[in-house]
Amino acid sequence: MTIQSMTNTNTADTAATVCQTIELADAGCEMVRITAPGIHEAENLALIKETLLKKGYDVPLIADIHFNPKAALIAASTVEKVRINPGNYTDRNVGKADFTDEEFQEAIRKIEERIAPLIEMLKKTGAALRIGSNHGSLSERIISKFGNTPAGMVEAALEFVRICRKMDFHNIVLSMKASNVRVMVHATRLLVKKMMGEGMNYPIHLGVTEAGDAEDGRIKSAAGIGALLADGIGDTIRVSLTEDPVNEIPVAQQICSNFSNQNSFTENPFDQFFYDPFTFTKREIYHNFLTGDFTFPLVLGKTFSDESQVPDLVFSEDKFHGKDRVYEVFEGTKLYFEKQLPEGFVKINASEISVDWLKNLHQTAKLILIVDSTSKNPVGEWRKVFEMLYQVDLKIPVILKKSYSETDPIKLGIHAAVDFGPLFIDGFGDGIWLEAENINPQKMVEISFQILQACGSRISKTEFIACPSCGRTQYDIQASLQKIKSKTSHLPGLKIAVMGCIVNGPGEMADADYGYVGMGNGKVALFKGRNMVQKSIPEAEAVESLIDLIKENGDWREP
Ligand code: SF4
Repeated sequence: MTIQSMTNTNTADTAATVCQTIELADAGCEMVRITAPGIHEAENLALIKETLLKKGYDVPLIADIHFNPKAALIAASTVEKVRINPGNYTDRNVGKADFTDEEFQEAIRKIEERIAPLIEMLKKTGAALRIGSNHGSLSERIISKFGNTPAGMVEAALEFVRICRKMDFHNIVLSMKASNVRVMVHATRLLVKKMMGEGMNYPIHLGVTEAGDAEDGRIKSAAGIGALLADGIGDTIRVSLTEDPVNEIPVAQQICSNFSNQNSFTENPFDQFFYDPFTFTKREIYHNFLTGDFTFPLVLGKTFSDESQVPDLVFSEDKFHGKDRVYEVFEGTKLYFEKQLPEGFVKINASEISVDWLKNLHQTAKLILIVDSTSKNPVGEWRKVFEMLYQVDLKIPVILKKSYSETDPIKLGIHAAVDFGPLFIDGFGDGIWLEAENINPQKMVEISFQILQACGSRISKTEFIACPSCGRTQYDIQASLQKIKSKTSHLPGLKIAVMGCIVNGPGEMADADYGYVGMGNGKVALFKGRNMVQKSIPEAEAVESLIDLIKENGDWREP
């Protein structure tokens, strides 16, 4: 597994870009991507490369290209890899919703015409090509035929791949990125399936784009990347955080550490799946016997010994999380729950479950299984349990439980997201129970809710989509994101995008309800859905303007 990151300096600023590249390489980054928005920046990559080599750094560089085939051509003579986005390399969006077959074919012919010189150049230099689809920036031509879907993302990339193959160029890497973890996972799996169907097996780069910052960003990335690594998919990874890019590296290393002994697959990995891994379907459960007001997936955790220390997050009835209050009081193996759930909670280690054992549980029994995993491969072990439940057609709810010896809550969040994420992303799991002796129970509950939110399983706070920023960003996106989060985190169900530039930001903020997008020179534009409603707002006033916009649209609630 190769770990990547991306600079967020101005590419025309050689000293700053070299300095950040060195910081990244020293931190363990094995490939560094640098944006090349125009000819000038693409040309400057040569000086950046030369300066790095003089300083003894030969870390491979990747030029990030959007909209500008000429910049790609220039960069190809310098860097080890060129990344293009099929959504904006050739197609131009003009508000057209319907394309005839002839227009579609003509567009593919134009792609070939424009990509051919780049492929010839890459053949000469030996550099690779990453064809990276982004969910938020598919062309209207692709959307008209496939929708804004994983299938559209895959086809957008494969159009380019087929041209590469026609020209006998195979130094290709592919990626399917989305800020929505499920979309990213489904698109990448679909890509692998389609590639194998067409006799291809190119490397895959993984990443959850616009994942945001802090624990939310780390957990979202870990859940998405971890789910695919658990499938045996992924050759390079990037954790995108709206922070100093150097912070991305230890997160990527922690994610990879969960998969140190993994073998890659040679056959279609999805043949063995007992469910459809390309679309989301929540596993059907039988829980009519529950009398309380419960929201699935449940969040379980240990109580505090002193109730006066118990935070609102867990116990206050009028707060969103109040319904999950659970006491863990062991008497032998019996659990007592504060809300007097019906008896019949069965706690068992996953390794003890067999088909015969499950057959002995009656379908209509008032049962909730708490399945503890102590395996080094909890994903595989839990998946096996759900497969057995499927075989015996047993629809009882299943709470996934795992204990950790980790003492750092951030590391724990990353590892737990890698372990639990793949299950929730695939619609399995009706509860989560994290344990770590050395971490505050409130923190464990917070992490549990963050994992569920990252997987789209249970939304308990505002969803933030924030780009990591790059050389195109011309305002303090990290400070703005912090300010926006501090004022709007109490609006569950709302998605707010905070994006670095007006060129790619609006396209890549996907299905956000509101967008806060940098315009350059310290000015910000606000979006309601896909529509720009205000522009050129001074940065100092923009957060208040965003709140006003949310209020005007009736989406505001007092904290
Ligand atoms: S949206 Fe953000 S990461 Fe993407 S090009 Fe613009 S500033 Fe760079």
